[in-house]
Parts: sequence; structure tokens; C-alpha cells
Amino acid sequence: MIKKILIANRGEIALRILRACKDLGIKTVAVHSTADADAMHVRLADESVCIGPASPRESYLNIPAIISAACITGADAVHPGFGFLSENPTFAHMVEEHGLIFIGPKADHIVMMGDKIMAKKTVSRLGLPTVPGSDGALTKLDKAIKLADDMGYPVLIKAAGGGGGRGMKVARSNEEFVEAYETARREAGISFGNDVVYLEKYLENPKHIEFQVIADQYGNAVHLGERDCSMQRRNQKVWEEAPSMVLSPEFRNEFGRKIAKAISEMGYVGVGTLEFLYENGQLYFIEMNTRIQVEHPITEMITGIDIVREQILIADGQKLSFTQDDVTFTGHAIECRINAENPDTYIPSAGTVAKYHCPGGPGVRVDSFVYEGYKIPPYYDSLIAKLVIHGKDRQQCLARLRRALNEYVISGVDTLIPLHLRLANDPRIIEGNFDIHFLESFSKNLKLK
Ligand code: ADP
Repeated sequence: MIKKILIANRGEIALRILRACKDLGIKTVAVHSTADADAMHVRLADESVCIGPASPRESYLNIPAIISAACITGADAVHPGFGFLSENPTFAHMVEEHGLIFIGPKADHIVMMGDKIMAKKTVSRLGLPTVPGSDGALTKLDKAIKLADDMGYPVLIKAAGGGGGRGMKVARSNEEFVEAYETARREAGISFGNDVVYLEKYLENPKHIEFQVIADQYGNAVHLGERDCSMQRRNQKVWEEAPSMVLSPEFRNEFGRKIAKAISEMGYVGVGTLEFLYENGQLYFIEMNTRIQVEHPITEMITGIDIVREQILIADGQKLSFTQDDVTFTGHAIECRINAENPDTYIPSAGTVAKYHCPGGPGVRVDSFVYEGYKIPPYYDSLIAKLVIHGKDRQQCLARLRRALNEYVISGVDTLIPLHLRLANDPRIIEGNFDIHFLESFSKNLKLK
């Protein structure tokens, strides 16, 4: 059995992993940059190691420092969390090379899904529908224009190595296409070190629907239902719900089982998320994330399954403790990402948290590392808390969400709490009537008022 885990991350996900370890009786090692010496994940871990200066490149992305910390402290496994090194196959490989367990999928699967072209080809071969587009990379401009013409505008040029909502350009005509193609390639080369791009039909009003999967080392794969993550700004999620309001139980069951079968055939091990766009009653695969996701708690709320705990047990070589038939969905859950950002402009807001009061009561879970007097460093992601609400149905969930948002006090820095309150009171949200463009136009209208 794994006895000690090094958590190669910071912030709320480091705490989330630490909590799963404590519940399992596993010792924890926190790593931190000099800027995070006072952080909660460092305070609550059994041991901690400073791995470098504030800059992520020199600390949380510093592979030799992290592996040395694991070896020195005698950890037998490494949990990468999300972001940072979680989808870095070199890191996964090096962890294993040093005789440690990487809590995540095999490096080969990270490589396969890290290349979005390969990911689409793989799931398509396994029988899942993908967004219509080019059959691989775009290599020549004239051929690409011809393909866009044949597909019909609008189209989306995407970076094969893209992520974090970056590396995408929409084109609505031949003229726009030439510029979008060149810009997409150039930006992809700079941002991802890989200028390979591909083409997809740009869906005008889709919802973002993703399925959570989990698979053990013995070919048992199960889906845990879907999440609606359509509420996005700059292609990044800020509010997520489970289940979605558009899939019927029959559709979920049938499609979910198809996905689980594909995962099992792939030989995938660990947790993962297959992301789809939903339009006109159809789901189209866009990409797979081979790690735990920010929004995993809403799935935990409706299934009662501790996904991080299961992830650790799978890495330890244990069999999945439940089958597909054991998975049931109860009620509705919503997660609001509380970012330290201006709620109108989304400009990050670093500084000291002057007052902090956390909401509570029935159906309320807060995953956060913030406390009164905590100094939010300017070097990292702006996510400081996740407010996760559960109710017997969506209506109760929204009522509890409004209550919790009204109770939540974070002063000294800007947060998205006021934005979430406006969203939770908006009649279109209450009706469940929104797609991936909703928040952009909502924010624009807010600014005009
Ligand atoms: P990333 O890896 O950067 O998150 P994704 O491929 O997952 O990129 O896409 C992120 C978001 O961009 C989606 O949730 C959706 O809002 C939008 N998007 C991606 N592909 C398309 C498409 N073909 N048509 C319309 N919107 C898209």
C-alpha cells in the first residue's frame, strides 16, 4: 500500500489531495515555492520541502527539484493535481524511472491525448462522434482553404498542442481564414512550442458537456455521468453543473457506457474527462483531459464517490470498488469558481485577504486554501476557492447557492462572488437556458449598464 504521497501542486487542489490522503491514512509531503511558505497545504502536510523561487518554472514546474524532494522524504508516490506537471509525459515517466508511482495515467496516454489530433483520431476509431473537421494537421494553406470552403464557414483553427482555452481562431470567410491560419500557427508555436494546427467546424451555439471516467489497471472502466461547463469566459470555465439539463437518463446511460467501453479498450488507467460539444441533440468529442479536473467535486456530490480517493487506490493497484450498475446520480450540484479577479473585467487581483467568512449549512462545500490575513501571491492561477452546492433538484441547488454566495465574505481583494450572484439570479440561468457564449454577452451587457 502507498504510505506517503508527495503532492506536486499548490492551492486548493493540493489541499484536496491532502484531505484524501488523510482519510486513507497516507502521509503527505507538500512542496512549495518561497512565495508559498505560509500556504495552507504546507501547514497541513506532514512534511514540506521548498523547491524553488516564486516563478513556477523554477518551482512547481521544476522536475529535478520535485523528484529530489520525493526521494529525500521517502515518498512512494507523486500526485500531480491539475495544471503544472499533471499532463507532462516526461514528468510521469521520470517519476516512474525513480521507482515512484505516478498517480495518473501511463505516459503514453498523456502523449496521445495531449495531441488533440491524435486524441480525436483515437476516440473516433473507438466509435465516438467527433466535431467534423480536417483529417489531421493542416500543412498547406491552399489545401486548408479548400477544406474550409468545402466544410462551410464559420470554421475554427485549433492548435494540436493547445490548452487553457488558448490557441483557437475563428474564421468566417476566405479572407479571414488566411489571417487566422497564419496567426494561429504563429501563436501556437510561441505558446506551446508546437505550431501544428487543425481545422474544426465552428459550432455556433453549443453547450460544453463532459463525461468523467475512471478506470483501474484490470480493464474495469466506469463513467460517472456528465457535467455542463458551458459557462465560460475566454473559453475557460467559471461555473459548472452536474448533471446537465439536456441529457435524458437513457441517453446518459447509453452514451456513458459507450465511453467507458472505449476507455477500457484504450487500456486507459486512472481518472479522465472526455469533453464534448453538444448541439442539436448530438455530442461531438473535442478533447480528453488525462488528470483530475477543477470541477470534479460536483460529480462527487451527485454520485457520493470520492474521486481523488479512488484515483489513489487505482494507482496503488487496487480494483475499482464499484461497477457501473453501482453508480447512481442523486440531485443536482453547481460549482462556482471563486477567482481573485475583478468580476467585470476579470483582471486578477493579488493582495491580502482582509476579512474571510466561509458559508455553511445544508448542501454547502467549500474547497479553499484561503484564510483571513492570507496574502494572495501574484504568480499563480487566480482560483482561490470553489463553492460547491448540492440540492435535491436544480431549484433547491440554486436557492442554496444564492444563500451561500450572500453569506460568503472575502474582502481586501476582488473576487467573482458578485458575478456569481448576478448569474444565480438571472432568469435565463434559472431556466437553464445558456450555451458557451452566454457569459461573454452577459459580461458585455453588464459593462454597458
Ligand atoms: P482547451 O484545451 O484550450 O480547453 P478545448 O478544445 O477543450 O480547448 O476547447 C475549449 C472551449 O473552446 C470549449 O469548451 C468551447 O467553448 C470552445 N470550442 C472548442 N472547439 C469548438 C468548436 N469546434 N466550436 C465552437 N466552440 C469550440
